[in-house]
Amino acid sequence: MEKERHVLVIFPHPDDEAFGVSGTIATHVKNGTPVTYACLTLGEMARNLGYPPFATRESLPHIRKRELQKAAEIMGIQDLRMMGLRDKTVEFEDDEKMAKMVLDLVHELNPSLVITFYPGYSVHPDHEATGRAVVRALRRIPEDKRPKLHCVAFSKNHEAEIGKPDVRNDVSGAAEQKIGAMKAHLSQTGWMMAEREEKLKQKDPETLEWLHYEYFWTYDWENDRVR
Ligand SMILES: [Zn+2]
Repeated sequence: MEKERHVLVIFPHPDDEAFGVSGTIATHVKNGTPVTYACLTLGEMARNLGYPPFATRESLPHIRKRELQKAAEIMGIQDLRMMGLRDKTVEFEDDEKMAKMVLDLVHELNPSLVITFYPGYSVHPDHEATGRAVVRALRRIPEDKRPKLHCVAFSKNHEAEIGKPDVRNDVSGAAEQKIGAMKAHLSQTGWMMAEREEKLKQKDPETLEWLHYEYFWTYDWENDRVR
């Protein structure tokens, strides 16, 4: 992995980072790179209340906030920003307000790398809105000063349109942190983790691959179709 000056991670929900980015985050931290995680909402509208349910509608935002803080601590993030937007409404936020929020963070932190969702290929409306806001913000920065933008994509058929990921991070040195971050988001990942840990015990090749490598698409500014 390339050594960065500062990494800025922007996702709408607590746990968006856990599945496919937590290893990358923890590896940057291990390399001595400061990482800021700006999490836009507390995921308070999530359908999942735990497996079996242990949260209520009222307690979920508090629980998810604590889970997020715990995950950040496990990944070694010193700078966790909770941006105070409402879950499932990010797509209705004013475009200019969103872009400015991102641009303010970039101007303050001067990151060499920004990580978010690939607009058009990240399924959930909040994910899409977040990716779009990041693109709109970074587009305003002259190319020679613009941080790199690595995106997470997972919609159906995304590879048919944007090809294979061009970034493959070996995060095997941060396996413990990745598992820890996944487990920290217990209300959302509880069902998945028991099964995954069992597969890891059996050295299941796919699960090991998931644990050891993370994939990103560098945003294609030449084919920028975000309005
Ligand atoms: Zn999400």
